[in-house]
Amino acid sequence: MPASPYVSRINQIDAAQLDEEIYKVLRSQVKEITKYQPGERIDRWQPEIDALLKFFIWMFSLRHGKSTFGQQLLNLHYGNVTRAKSVLFLIFTVAPAYVRDKLADGAASPESKTILCRVANVAKLLEFLNLLVFLHRGSQPRVAEYLLGIASCSSTTHKPRNIGYSYMTRELLWHGLMELFTTGLPLVNFHYMKHGIKKLLSRRRRTGAQRSFPTMDLGSKCPYCHDTPVLPAHAGCEHVYCYYCLKAHFTATSEFQCYECGARLCAGNMLMYEASPAAASVQVQE
Ligand SMILES: [Zn+2]
Ligand SMILES: [Zn+2]
Repeated sequence: MPASPYVSRINQIDAAQLDEEIYKVLRSQVKEITKYQPGERIDRWQPEIDALLKFFIWMFSLRHGKSTFGQQLLNLHYGNVTRAKSVLFLIFTVAPAYVRDKLADGAASPESKTILCRVANVAKLLEFLNLLVFLHRGSQPRVAEYLLGIASCSSTTHKPRNIGYSYMTRELLWHGLMELFTTGLPLVNFHYMKHGIKKLLSRRRRTGAQRSFPTMDLGSKCPYCHDTPVLPAHAGCEHVYCYYCLKAHFTATSEFQCYECGARLCAGNMLMYEASPAAASVQVQE
């Protein structure tokens, strides 16, 4: 399969980014392992540990082949890399960070710190200039690549970046469903459906129901919440509900069947319960 000379800028930047991420993941794992060791001892060796990690990454990628791990993931490789260039690439990757960390640890005098700062600034400036050149020319996003004269090539024939559309479709479907439920579910009147089903199931029991005056004594329970009715109210049968229980039902549906006797209760018939004079006198005597 002939290799295409063209490699998009975004692929090259992604490859560099992936290399960076792989290094960061390994570094965090090492930090996790050495978490319970005395802090000072580990901090003293941190530059060496970092350098060693970069060396291992290089040893298993660029040393035996022509590509870094990030490039392998994106089907890229260095077209004109030699053994010497590969070793120099490692030195360019490891040395600046190592020297910086080592000097930052040990530097006691303010002069050396000032020099270090200037060198770091110059390095950042070089990186920025290299980025501008890269954006213009479309190759060698890293300073080390520019210095060594190596550039990324595609390992396969040119094709657009693969994007996992199946994953995106699944996400879209899921979000669509979520939106449908969050918008649609509040519009469904579950109370009405519940009463409809109850009506079907209790058709037989309903037939004998007839209107009568509501009665309430010390043992009366609200047919819905099975507790002593709070602010007693009724709506057409002899049973006394809590005002809240009854009102909540009539807010959801204008009529429903009494839970106790199956009589049809309408919102228009809803009244607060008033004890009859006889019942009141009984209560007073008690
Ligand atoms: Zn109640
Ligand atoms: Zn009833």
